[in-house]
Amino acid sequence: MKMNNLVGGIEAGGTKFVCAVGSGPQDFRAEVRFPTTTPEETIQRAIDFFRQQQEIHGQLTAVGIGAFGPLDPNPPSPMFGYITSTPKPGWRNTDFGGAIQRALNLPIRFDTDVNGAALGEWRWGVAQGLDTFIYLTIGTGIGGGVMVGGQLLHGLIHPELGHVRLPHDKQTDPYRGHCPYHGDCFEGLAAGPAIGERWGQPATDLPPNHAAWELEAHYIAVALANYICILSPQRIILGGGVMEQPQLFPMIRHQVIEQLNGYVQSPAILENIETYIVPPQLGNRAGVLGAFALAQLKT
Ligand code: ADP
Ligand code: ZN
Repeated sequence: MKMNNLVGGIEAGGTKFVCAVGSGPQDFRAEVRFPTTTPEETIQRAIDFFRQQQEIHGQLTAVGIGAFGPLDPNPPSPMFGYITSTPKPGWRNTDFGGAIQRALNLPIRFDTDVNGAALGEWRWGVAQGLDTFIYLTIGTGIGGGVMVGGQLLHGLIHPELGHVRLPHDKQTDPYRGHCPYHGDCFEGLAAGPAIGERWGQPATDLPPNHAAWELEAHYIAVALANYICILSPQRIILGGGVMEQPQLFPMIRHQVIEQLNGYVQSPAILENIETYIVPPQLGNRAGVLGAFALAQLKT
């Protein structure tokens, strides 16, 4: 398969879908965004869009799907292409990839939204030239895509960087956490809705000097220090709505260095942390460009 072929991309989020046709950031032919409703209606809208686009631009070579999960990204598995144990109403055990594949009769690539975004940043963004890095999104939930040694990491299923357990000092932070599975896991303590619930107003309304951000930076930094110890990433990309708060970046960088306490002796961390913990470069097209990159992966 050629690398610069015309493909379809789907960024399937819990709140909205973005579908697009193109071959990369410089060849972006068309895009549509619509809310995530029932699987039937939402998947059909995606199919209709690609059919329409194929009439204009000709046959696509593949469709890449980066989806909310948990999901099954393992091609030989009988559940490949399924959204599996999601708490999202109606979507549990949905054969999303299969429905797209059958309707369009095109090869599909199916992975987590965050693995897709990681791959997009690796092809065209801030992770070019690296082989081991993390893309973490902190929004409605927390999730991470991981590349290790030049390959997206799947392992048993796929990583769940948002559901790691962190030390939780209930004296300084009595908030119980909002993860339906774990209560006070990382996502339960630090995703956007947790910030809103803890402080009694939406995260978007809290002023930049509010104590919420120092605590938020603390949880993120503890999680990152753990990931650094486990995976030895060459860079960490932080995206998602919560990271729209630019004051978080310097706080997180500072606290990561404190958490590691000099043990991980790399100039990338000790001297150049500004280029080690960074925002994504592909902006609001990161997800769908990541889906293009998935579709263009060589088998
Ligand atoms: P999603 O996770 O649904 O794909 P986002 O990454 O935009 O979407 O995450 C939305 C969450 O991020 C909301 O819970 C909101 O509280 C939080 N959020 C969005 N924008 C901001 C902002 N500018 N500052 C702080 N939090 C934000
Ligand atoms: Zn959890």
